[in-house]
Amino acid sequence: MNTPAIANGTIQIVYLISAALFILSLKWMSSPRSARRGVWAGELGMLLAICATLLYRGIVDYTWIAIALVLGTIIGIPLGNVQMTAVPQRTALSHAFGALCVSLVGTAEYYLRAPHVPAFMMAVLSMEVILGSLTFTGSLMAAGKLQEILPQRPITYKGQNIVNLSLLAIAVAVAVALVINPGHTRLFPLMIAIPLVFGVMMIVPIGGADMPTVISLLNSYAGLSAAAMGFVLDSKLLIVAGALDGSSGFILSVIMSKAMNRSFTNVLFGAFGQVQTSAAGIQEARTVRGATAEEAAAILGAANSVVIVPGYGMAVAQAQHKVREFYDALTRRGIDVRFAIHPVAGRMPGHMNVLLAEADIPYDKLLDMDAINPEFPQTDVALIIGANDVTNPAARTDPGSPIYGMPILDVDKAKTVMVIKRGMSPGFAGIDNQLYYLDKTLMLFGDAKAFVGDLLRELAGESGG
Ligand code: NAP
Repeated sequence: MNTPAIANGTIQIVYLISAALFILSLKWMSSPRSARRGVWAGELGMLLAICATLLYRGIVDYTWIAIALVLGTIIGIPLGNVQMTAVPQRTALSHAFGALCVSLVGTAEYYLRAPHVPAFMMAVLSMEVILGSLTFTGSLMAAGKLQEILPQRPITYKGQNIVNLSLLAIAVAVAVALVINPGHTRLFPLMIAIPLVFGVMMIVPIGGADMPTVISLLNSYAGLSAAAMGFVLDSKLLIVAGALDGSSGFILSVIMSKAMNRSFTNVLFGAFGQVQTSAAGIQEARTVRGATAEEAAAILGAANSVVIVPGYGMAVAQAQHKVREFYDALTRRGIDVRFAIHPVAGRMPGHMNVLLAEADIPYDKLLDMDAINPEFPQTDVALIIGANDVTNPAARTDPGSPIYGMPILDVDKAKTVMVIKRGMSPGFAGIDNQLYYLDKTLMLFGDAKAFVGDLLRELAGESGG
């Protein structure tokens, strides 16, 4: 065997190892116990893939590659250091960059090959460029909405879906024309421009609350476009990685749609503009019962079972370590303490699991919604720390509510409900929570971290005195 053949063989073997690492990474990330290993496997897989690609003998000059590596590193490091609450928009930005790259590579490949592009190759190339372009602008829009640079509320108009689908249909028609005759080089820019506009139009009617599902779907599109690029570049690794990305993003979107009670067809057709329109709701002047840390600590100290429901407010306050101390204090008193984890609590899937794992809360104390809901009627105190929408009984009882049908944590079935939040502000969906007005509910007004600290002091005082 000659040297190039050996080098190519080595590259293919390293690619195979990378692909295996990507698959293991996804598998390991499905449990908090092995998630760290999963991240390492993914990183190692990517490092190997990049190194193997750099060995490719077709590379004649490394200058541009070096510039790209430096630029990528300069952009990547700050992106890796964002606050955890900003991870959804950060993820959207990563998809935008990936999709832009796919579109640019597709464009370069087309102009290098035109007019001699076989029909299959042209079809895949078109798919790559269409998906890449719409994912690029769609992801930028999604990031802008989540970062509140763009208005979060959905912007809708009559016939919106028809306009959007027509745009997509025109892009597909252009693609078909190019497959029939790849020599129409002047048509190609249209196949980029129309999906770029479509990406913007697709996100405009979607409210901020549904953005995570959309980001996960865009993740899926980015993966599919990368897989298409794999066919164009004849890279099996890209096909495997793109397919993994595409299918895992799709599965996550389906899971999130279910958890937020959005029909998946609505997600696909970008039709959930209506979701937040009635969000302001009608605010009645009703009274709530407040309690001090001293009063709350007395009730908690006398309880047999406590279920803690963490939410976005706990993440904002970075209260997880105080919550861990609080968990220890209650457990030391022989109280059974568990955590109820809603699949969309916080601002990204697994948000609460990550925070509680960071504070070393035992995994077996973290219960999913389906496991904990039957336990609430036997629970003495449901203590909600910075969660809101995921506990709102309107999801069960009020057909007019924008979150109607969303599965929630049945905290209202516990004997006593306590809610730590700073005031009466609504949560992400922008609606009032009926839970706060129940006779059994005590509002503990304050910052999550500070209030849990106060509870700890009161409990310590009680046991000291
Ligand atoms: P939420 O409904 O957004 O409510 C969070 C609550 O935390 C607010 O009512 C706020 O009230 C309180 N809060 C904020 N800062 C606080 C602090 N420093 N201390 C104490 N309380 C604080 O949160 P959630 O119940 O976790 O529900 C998540 C929502 O986000 C759902 O609507 C979900 O659909 C959506 N979403 C989920 C994901 C995901 O993938 N997990 C992603 C994006 C959006 P005050 O201002 O009165 O304190």
